[in-house]
Amino acid sequence: MPTLDLANAKPVVKPAAAAAVHALPAKPSLVGLDRAGLKAALEAIGIEGKETRMRVSQLWGWIYQRGAKTFEEMSNVSKHLRAALVENYTLDRPEVVVEQVSVDGTRKWLMRIPPSIAGEKWHEIETVYIPTRDRGTLCISSQVGCTLTCSFCHTGTQKLVRNLTAAEIVAQIIVARDRLGDWPGQQPPEGAFVPDDGGRFVSNIVLMGMGEPLYNVENVTAALKVLLDQDGLQLSKRRITLSTSGVVPEIGRVGAETGVSLAISLHAVTDDLRDELVPLNRKYPIADLLDACRNYPAASNARRITFEYVMLKGVNDSIDDAKRLVRLLKGIPAKINLIPFNPWPGSKYECSDWEQIERFSEIVFDAGYSSPVRTPRGRDILAACGQLKSETEKLRAKERAELMSKAEQDAFRAMSMVD
Ligand code: SAH
Ligand code: SF4
Repeated sequence: MPTLDLANAKPVVKPAAAAAVHALPAKPSLVGLDRAGLKAALEAIGIEGKETRMRVSQLWGWIYQRGAKTFEEMSNVSKHLRAALVENYTLDRPEVVVEQVSVDGTRKWLMRIPPSIAGEKWHEIETVYIPTRDRGTLCISSQVGCTLTCSFCHTGTQKLVRNLTAAEIVAQIIVARDRLGDWPGQQPPEGAFVPDDGGRFVSNIVLMGMGEPLYNVENVTAALKVLLDQDGLQLSKRRITLSTSGVVPEIGRVGAETGVSLAISLHAVTDDLRDELVPLNRKYPIADLLDACRNYPAASNARRITFEYVMLKGVNDSIDDAKRLVRLLKGIPAKINLIPFNPWPGSKYECSDWEQIERFSEIVFDAGYSSPVRTPRGRDILAACGQLKSETEKLRAKERAELMSKAEQDAFRAMSMVD
């Protein structure tokens, strides 16, 4: 087990730049827009008729296939149009304020996004990159904060909330590819841990960062369509997973429109307990949620629905809970992801003991479900599930060290057992 290196947090913006946070951007950025958005931007500067379509596809290729950062490099775009683009638009990305690199190679970026309407504040969001040898998973946010208040989740304690625009959701992937050198002809930063299987460094996306994606379903769906475009970012629907705490009326729609994989934050097997852990359960109880799963258009035995289950000591981790979980999921093509609870300052839960997680996992496994225990990643930089929170509750080094010493032990046990 490597020693944890707390000094690894790298602020990449100087304080002077951080001072200008309230200004509106002078020109809008085209990064993250879908084809309709690019078309509108071109029309606004006088491009009309047949030419528009051709120009949209040129911009599309430069932004999403090659990661262009300037209009000047767009060599197949006419000089005249390039000048007009420079004058009216930018290719700015959300600004990375802090990059943290965990001892396990996980990277967390705190990004600052400009107001989407005049008068609004700038916001901060977090995006996490989790590499393994054969895949690079990017955990993206769909909202600033979350309006839901799951009792074990740090994001749920954040007061300030706004939906991210579709472009802001897409831009998180662009930033990750920039920082990892994941564009044609580029190299990863020295010493970075990235997959070595010859594929893209960002190969998988999980909507498991800040926010409830299905409370921002229009923008999330629009963003997913940009991600899935095979002439652009070229992600596969099988490699994108949307996690929801159970917004039942939206589940079928997002499945039909995008075909992405689904994850459900279940966490409890009785309505009484789930009402407490995931208060949205009071509106959409377990039976309704599981019905929506049975009807999920993009699920099959080959593409199972993931049920996430956070292991909370003495709360939801009994043998009876495990047996009931198996009964509940009967008939649904499912896999069960047991997530060791990740602590955060002020949280009232503890992670289940490792022996209990093993017993729980065995029952689920014996019933025929794959039941991996998710290895906590990036705990030393508070990048693990449910630890994200912006407006940044800056932890003192001592608080982080306290969280970590427990995390270190848990991570060690978890790593010896999974993946
Ligand atoms: N809002 C969505 C997606 C973001 S949360 C949802 O709830 O599904 C991503 C996953 O992390 C969810 O399964 C969530 O329940 C889990 N999670 C939240 N807080 C956690 C914590 N402290 N420890 C472990 N998992 C947590
Ligand atoms: Fe929101 Fe998901 Fe956290 Fe619940 S677990 S508060 S839905 S981000």
